[in-house]
Amino acid sequence: MTIGTTVLGYPRIGPDRELKRALERYWAGRIDASALLATGRDLRRRTWCELRDAGLDSIPSNTFSLYDHVLDTAELFGVLPARPGLSPLDTYFAAARGVQDAPALEMTKWFDTNYHYLVPELGPDAEFTLAGTKPLDEYREARALGIETRPVLVGPVTFLLLSKATGGFAPLDLLDALLPRYADLLAKLHDEGVEWVQLDEPAFAADRTEAELNALIRAYHRLGKALSRPKLLVAGYFGGLGRGLGVLARAPIDALAVDLVTDESFVDAVAAEPALRDKEVLAGVVDGRNVWRTDPQRALSRAATLLGVAKSVSVSTSCSLLHVPYDVSREDLPLRLKKRLAFARQKVDEVVLLGRALRGAPAGAAVADEAEPADAHVRARLAALLPEHTVRAPYAQRAAAQRAALGLPPLPTTTIGSFPQTAEVRRARAAHRAGTLDDAGYADAMRAEIERVVRLQEDLGLDVLVHGEPERNDMVQYFAEQLAGFAATAHGWVQSYGSRCVRPPILHGDVSRPAPMTVSWAKYAQSLTAKPVKGMLTGPVTILAWSFVRDDQPLAETARQVALAIRDEVHDLEAAGIRVVQVDEPALRELLPLRRARHEEYFAWAVSAFRLATSGIADATQIHTHMCYSEFGEVLPAIDALDADVTSIEAARSKMEVLTDLNAGGFGRGVGPGVYDIHSPRVPSAAEVASLLRTAVGAVPASRVWVNPDCGLKTRGYAEVEPALRNLVAAAREVRAEL
Ligand code: GLN
Ligand code: ZN
Repeated sequence: MTIGTTVLGYPRIGPDRELKRALERYWAGRIDASALLATGRDLRRRTWCELRDAGLDSIPSNTFSLYDHVLDTAELFGVLPARPGLSPLDTYFAAARGVQDAPALEMTKWFDTNYHYLVPELGPDAEFTLAGTKPLDEYREARALGIETRPVLVGPVTFLLLSKATGGFAPLDLLDALLPRYADLLAKLHDEGVEWVQLDEPAFAADRTEAELNALIRAYHRLGKALSRPKLLVAGYFGGLGRGLGVLARAPIDALAVDLVTDESFVDAVAAEPALRDKEVLAGVVDGRNVWRTDPQRALSRAATLLGVAKSVSVSTSCSLLHVPYDVSREDLPLRLKKRLAFARQKVDEVVLLGRALRGAPAGAAVADEAEPADAHVRARLAALLPEHTVRAPYAQRAAAQRAALGLPPLPTTTIGSFPQTAEVRRARAAHRAGTLDDAGYADAMRAEIERVVRLQEDLGLDVLVHGEPERNDMVQYFAEQLAGFAATAHGWVQSYGSRCVRPPILHGDVSRPAPMTVSWAKYAQSLTAKPVKGMLTGPVTILAWSFVRDDQPLAETARQVALAIRDEVHDLEAAGIRVVQVDEPALRELLPLRRARHEEYFAWAVSAFRLATSGIADATQIHTHMCYSEFGEVLPAIDALDADVTSIEAARSKMEVLTDLNAGGFGRGVGPGVYDIHSPRVPSAAEVASLLRTAVGAVPASRVWVNPDCGLKTRGYAEVEPALRNLVAAAREVRAEL
């Protein structure tokens, strides 16, 4: 049998974030493991039934995860750190979240998405075993419901490429040790009656070396030639497969899923591949990454290009639907916008309809082109901008002005912006939203919280303070709600990592800032203290990265509109007496195209958007930026080009390795390597922080080093944050004294 219409994966957090709630209750000790597992089972059942009822020919399984599918794969093959005394479930969560005596695995972005996976650590003598049964269990679970499914696995080459080798070898060196375990798993699935298995190899959407392509050849020859195996579907997504296409077309596998959305020119490469003639091809023509309705005519013509090239052609999504919300029908949005939208549930219907159309049924009308009216004022302002509007004075001149204006000690301490969001703060926000707390009452509650946070920071002895962001639900949504051109959803949650979800706003029209967005809070915080308070904004690239963005004009143009709105806010903060402004760009790397050939074009617009947002201010006004990742070799030139005075970066989990990159890149401005891993509940000791700081001042001149946590503190509790920050300040003092 062919696979037929399908989706490569589906959201798993639950339409009402049921999994998030259950996880948090389990971690808090309020429910037991069996209650948590029951929630998972219920969510899986609902997904499978929904996909079956929608009329898909093939339904994926093993797309559920209690935390992350890469972590699941590490567990499946027995390479999670052992935690004697903990149950298998808690060993799994210990790897994800850390425990007091052992930090968590590193976490990083899943390709160019805002989903984060845990990075498996493999030593040279890593021993793979088929330690788990999850794909088998979920297959059986679905079959017990009368639903035949296609287990989905992270492919062996992608799994190794995403892992981190501890010790001088490349993870791919372990391929020959890993493949037999995959073969064992395939044999077990085959014995169980599984017809198709999907192996995901998204790593081949990026540039790959000869050795990596050879690994792909070896892997699928080995697995394809296995005597006892289900039929194999290999899925490439997040872009074209490059030379991986030829490799997979010639491999002894049965089907190939290709992304025909991210890079439209890939359609021609697939159509020109003669070796596909004995394979089923899944044409990924429904965008798994965005929320716009598929144009049926365009999608169909792309899929139809492959008819005759492959043995058979079916319709699928471009990637897993993990990256879009569940269901747009639940949203209360302006009708004109809503008609243009499709979330996961609607995309399944699109796949089914397109699949039928490919077999000759009517395809449905093209999406009516209901372009948004342009904002003439925004367009005119952008047209009038000159190159000098994006340039600041030379750094040395600014640094001197800032030293004089701010009077900070060496190794100044600061935080990344948010403080823990207490139940009280959340309650006030919810009551305000519900209309039971009026504007004045809400402002009082926020001011009380800001005052508490400022007092706490003074007490802790931090040098550059923040207002704590109590008024923000999310760093992008907060701005989107106040900018023209955006719409917010009520239920549009998307998993970011583990139990963390975000609700990306929808950028559908021209963007502008009708009124100041953060000035009154920052000004109030500054009125409470003589220490500088850092204004806190989200940068244009990150606003785009964490929104669903209109696709009817170039991204660069949309970025300029957002940048102009942020620039207005920066200027108003400065006018209100704020001397330090942080413009967060944690997503700078996330939007980096996976193929190097596209980097230059991306950097050009991303950097100029940031500079447009952060220039036109006094030399003495200090611009900070913040990024949440540690491997940034490739974005290093761009980070330098942003020209921020201070850049804070994630570094605790990778033990300051990032500073070596920075130095090699000749980065010459302020840098704050995160010395406290806020993704873990663990409290670092002062000695531990001091030792990280000594590493930092060994790698970068001490005059440029800042001391700060890895990221914002909003997801943590005060019970951890207070002692951790106390240790951080103590460590800074200790190392300062050694300078
Ligand atoms: N200023 C934001 C905060 O502290 C930054 C968050 C982020 O980088 N993701 O919450
Ligand atoms: Zn961050």
